[in-house]
Amino acid sequence: MNAPRLEVDLDKIHHNARTLNERLSKRGISITGITKATLGSPEIARTLLRGGIGGLGESRIENIETLHRARIAKRFTLIRSPMVSQVERVVESARTSLNTEIEVIRELSTAAKKASRTHEVILMVELGDLREGILPGDLDDVVRDTLECSNIKLQGIGTNLACRSGVAPDSAKMQELSRLAERIEASHNLKLAVVSGGNSSAIEWALSAESTERINNLRLGESILLGREPLQRKPIEGLHTDAFTLIAEVIESKMKPTKPWGDVAEAAFGQQQPVVDRGNAAQTILAIGHQDTDPDGLSAPAPIEVLAGSSDHLIVHSDEILPIGSEISFQPNYSALARAMSSPFVSKVAKARSGVIPLS
Ligand SMILES: *Cc1c(COP(=O)(O)O)cnc(C)c1O
Repeated sequence: MNAPRLEVDLDKIHHNARTLNERLSKRGISITGITKATLGSPEIARTLLRGGIGGLGESRIENIETLHRARIAKRFTLIRSPMVSQVERVVESARTSLNTEIEVIRELSTAAKKASRTHEVILMVELGDLREGILPGDLDDVVRDTLECSNIKLQGIGTNLACRSGVAPDSAKMQELSRLAERIEASHNLKLAVVSGGNSSAIEWALSAESTERINNLRLGESILLGREPLQRKPIEGLHTDAFTLIAEVIESKMKPTKPWGDVAEAAFGQQQPVVDRGNAAQTILAIGHQDTDPDGLSAPAPIEVLAGSSDHLIVHSDEILPIGSEISFQPNYSALARAMSSPFVSKVAKARSGVIPLS
């Protein structure tokens, strides 16, 4: 079989989606299933929907278009602020988008009017992680201006934490977002349908908080696909953490010194890791690298240990010499998964009872 390849267990993803959906709906929270790490895979999107998830979210309009072509007729949310150069495509394929700039919302309004559509907008609020978001003090003005845009419906507000600076979505942050929602509703005499509390990093809060306040939606990718919460990368109880396996093939296997020799400067991908001199050891090279995945995001089966990656090579240490032509299975993290799904060099297959079948 072709290597490298990514094997996807759709039953495990289905289980994760269904389990999280059941747990969160009891708390009054709907899930927007985020497919951005899957390059808009129709099979994976359908699996999320079969698990009971009501809406899908994507960071790239291209992936939403792929899902449309696969006849997945669900409501899509574009979760990265739209580019002005893409507003026509956005109103065509996405029912909703997350926004932080009134200039962009005005462009969406013009495009929606031209297409005779209504486009829904969720305004993202900055609560300290310092990625996207309107500062709370500016929110009122942006709400007022958004309400003036024709063919635009203010669907709600949301926030995104823990993505850039690791700021945790705790009760204080979720209360702040809830109070902002109430303040907007009172001062503009309206009802916000959606208050979106964040990504997978908000799972622990959502499942354990005394009150979920006004939060009624989370946008979940990693927790469904990999069964982990991103704050400490802890497995979520009852979920599968091994729905994805990345398989690579051995192309060199030798006993070599562990310490490089010669005048050592910078390596192809930046600074060398400091090396421990372990004398002679089994060093294996696999045919996979930065062009296929994120080598730093691969967990090897013990006792194999990932040492380094370059554009096309992954170097691992093992106790014994690994046979040429044999395959090693790695567990990808979110970054390694997203890169593998996007790489044309990696075949994608789904595990099924009949063996493995290619993903479209
Ligand atoms: C990626 C992303 C998500 C999903 O994040 P996960 O950690 O995979 O759950 C949600 N919202 C936004 C805005 C994102 O960019």
